[in-house]
Amino acid sequence: MNKRLIIGNWKMNPSTLDEAKRIIRSMRIVATKLEHTQVVACPPYLYISNCISKKSNSVSIGSQTVSIQEGGAHTGEISPAMLKDIGVQYVIVGHSEQRASGDSDEIVSKRIIATVEAGMKAVVCIGENVRDEQGVYLDTLKDQIKRTFAGIQSKYARDIIIVYEPVWAIGAKEAMAPEQVYETSLFVKKVFSDIFSQESAMKVKVLYGGSVNFRNAGDIIRIGKVDGLLVGRESVNIPGLKELLKAVDVVVL
Ligand code: PEP
Repeated sequence: MNKRLIIGNWKMNPSTLDEAKRIIRSMRIVATKLEHTQVVACPPYLYISNCISKKSNSVSIGSQTVSIQEGGAHTGEISPAMLKDIGVQYVIVGHSEQRASGDSDEIVSKRIIATVEAGMKAVVCIGENVRDEQGVYLDTLKDQIKRTFAGIQSKYARDIIIVYEPVWAIGAKEAMAPEQVYETSLFVKKVFSDIFSQESAMKVKVLYGGSVNFRNAGDIIRIGKVDGLLVGRESVNIPGLKELLKAVDVVVL
């Protein structure tokens, strides 16, 4: 069985290095006991080195973004090669909070290329801002996926993880209903297969993100039939995260 992938997006949390170390230590303790689940933590840049362990690989480390530049005069930027060099394996790209600060689909596409060419996996977030009764959101989603993956060579399809993350469900009270997660993730796979191939689409992992917590995670995996979850707030809440990981790990499909 393919392992489920749970990716924690810590965003700009926690506010101290000690707390970051505490979170990653607790995550490792739970993660080593999981049978069917692979765990990834994406701390802020500043904490990444402290979260990488040479002794344990139970939690892989990801970054929350990456520069599209290779190096040189780009103040404040971190290159893909720098991340790869210190042991980062995943990079979140196209998160709606990055898109809101200026990342267009074209820039997201460049970040994907920079990530996969450096030998890391790109965790690509896509999702509509609003959901309407008429289904216009499906066209929005399709266009976004087409533009985001334009120019990506099909040999890199295996290094891409798609996160269907409806913007309206991020930081909300409720996650999307698992039945809707199922329908929309199938749609996302179909559009991906039209761009690359059916074979590539079979291999690509599709995750769901948006207000996942320990209460709804099991059902989203079971009924939504996604390959994993991108978790925001609950990923830095250790008691909740522990329960979430256990709930996901016991789902039998
Ligand atoms: C996110 O921002 O990627 C996210 C999923 O956040 P939350 O789980 O807090 O909605």
